[in-house]
Amino acid sequence: MKRITIIGGGASGTLLAVNLAANALEKEIEINLVENRSRIGRGVAFGTTIDSHLLNVPAGRMGAFPEKPAHFHEWLIAKGYPYGDHDFVPRVRYGEYLRELLSEATGISKPNLRVNLVDDEAIDLSVNDDSAEVMLRSGEVLPSHAVVLALGNHKPPHPSVRDLAFTSSERYFQDPWSSQLYETIQPDDPIFIVGTGLSMVDVALHLHRRGHRGKISAISTRGLLPAVHKLGYSYPPFATELNGLDRITDVLKVVRKHMKLADSTGSNWRAVIDSLRPVTQDIWRDLPIPEKRYFKQHLSRYWNVARHRMPPEAAEILKEMQSAGTLDILKGRLKTIELNDGGEFVIGFRSNGSTNSATANVLVNCIGSESDFSKIDSLFVKNLIARDVIRCDELSLGINATPDGRVINGSGTPSSIVFTLGTALKGILWESTAIPEIRVQAQNLARGLLND
Ligand SMILES: Cc1cc2nc3c(=O)[nH]c(=O)nc-3n(C[C@H](O)[C@H](O)[C@H](O)COP(=O)(O)OP(=O)(O)OC[C@H]3O[C@@H](n4cnc5c(N)ncnc54)[C@H](O)[C@@H]3O)c2cc1C
Repeated sequence: MKRITIIGGGASGTLLAVNLAANALEKEIEINLVENRSRIGRGVAFGTTIDSHLLNVPAGRMGAFPEKPAHFHEWLIAKGYPYGDHDFVPRVRYGEYLRELLSEATGISKPNLRVNLVDDEAIDLSVNDDSAEVMLRSGEVLPSHAVVLALGNHKPPHPSVRDLAFTSSERYFQDPWSSQLYETIQPDDPIFIVGTGLSMVDVALHLHRRGHRGKISAISTRGLLPAVHKLGYSYPPFATELNGLDRITDVLKVVRKHMKLADSTGSNWRAVIDSLRPVTQDIWRDLPIPEKRYFKQHLSRYWNVARHRMPPEAAEILKEMQSAGTLDILKGRLKTIELNDGGEFVIGFRSNGSTNSATANVLVNCIGSESDFSKIDSLFVKNLIARDVIRCDELSLGINATPDGRVINGSGTPSSIVFTLGTALKGILWESTAIPEIRVQAQNLARGLLND
């Protein structure tokens, strides 16, 4: 009997379990999918129940299997949901889809297969030469031949201001994906959001839908909103022009040239970015570390704005809110966040050479998932590091691992027992956080684990 334990039952862990169950053949196999949230199978992104939280990828490209990108759209149609393949569907539907795939996987009747959904938190892992033991919060121990870390998104780091006393306020929300946030906010509350990316868009859209009247201000150093999707364009591959370029600025020079060309030849710059998707991981892997570091520090925010786009319907609502004066997007650098005597947040920031301040009674952190594993607030992660099972990659964007997901331990040895996929591989692959990449990783990892 081969026992595979997957820690994390979000999209990555679920798709891995689904692939393992579907491909299990004659070997006896037991799969444990461990998840500490109440709604296993959905994870952070697809655990939302809010209709205004939309997928940022069109339905026709969100299929769970690499060879069937239309599978999710076909599922929607079969369920009677009236969406086209270009539509940006509420994420809650994707959560239902994943949940159904998981139920099918647990229901597969093969004499040699058992899939256990384990409602618990992994807190520790000890690894021996050919096996491992996963310790759960309940005290249960799961002996395993392979362990997969599908840990996904973590709470964002606090804003980088010197005095963090404000974090003790119960009106500070470090986790923008928590439903508790919306239970607390009153319609007239002035709200300050740190970050102007897709998580901020989620928060603003839902507040708008609820008829929020208070002013919402959101800040980032560049004050840039995600670009807006425009579908229906294509662009021919040009990756061969990037061969041999080992400076990120040279790579981006070629990309910008094609973006201009696309715009002047009836295509669209977005199609250029999208045409790079199949080769982004290779480009990243070929770059020397200092170039990657330069990109991370100075250029990634521009890349993210262009690459992680929002649906047009979301952009329309944000524009309406901005025109009505209910949403203010600020460009500036946070300096201080303090609590005044009335318990309000007083936020000081530098903008256009001058010092400004804003007051709000709710503060939401939309900085984005913490990627530095040495700072992640999780007993499990702390224990993994303390035991040398994992270490950060060189850019502190995730876990050090081989590109196919074998975790490299503190002594630099790739493991044949501990694996990872998804967001934790961002430092190794850069493009590793969304379903189009995760479904490939889940399939390959499942095949590798079953063939081993
Ligand atoms: C708000 C948001 C919206 C997104 N929208 C899209 C989109 O539209 N399209 C797209 O392709 N991608 C989207 N993404 C990217 C997204 O991260 C991936 O698509 C996918 O959801 C990642 O799944 P995951 O399982 O890797 O991570 P997660 O969803 O974060 O799941 C990880 C799970 O591991 C569990 N876990 C962690 N530690 C432990 C432990 N010690 N014990 C037990 N369980 C543990 C957590 O509770 C969590 O449920 C979005 C991401 C976010 C944050």
